[in-house]
Amino acid sequence: MAKLLLLVAVAGVVYALLRNYQRAISRQQDQTPTPDQPRAAAEDMVCCDRCGVHLPRSEGFLSQGRYFCTDDHRKLGPRQ
Ligand SMILES: [Zn+2]
Repeated sequence: MAKLLLLVAVAGVVYALLRNYQRAISRQQDQTPTPDQPRAAAEDMVCCDRCGVHLPRSEGFLSQGRYFCTDDHRKLGPRQ
């Protein structure tokens, strides 16, 4: 009978260790960034139609479908 109890106890410990191991593995996989994540987080870059400087889309000045780096360049319009 004592042997049976010991067997059950060992099986329980092994089961607990396996659960911990699986949880550690899945946590590692969660932290590993997928290749798509940095690209999705990065903002689109646009090019100033006046001077050609690149800037994030949210910082650009939009006029008639064209992006400019500053309000001055927006007023000056695209380079001829
Ligand atoms: Zn510019």
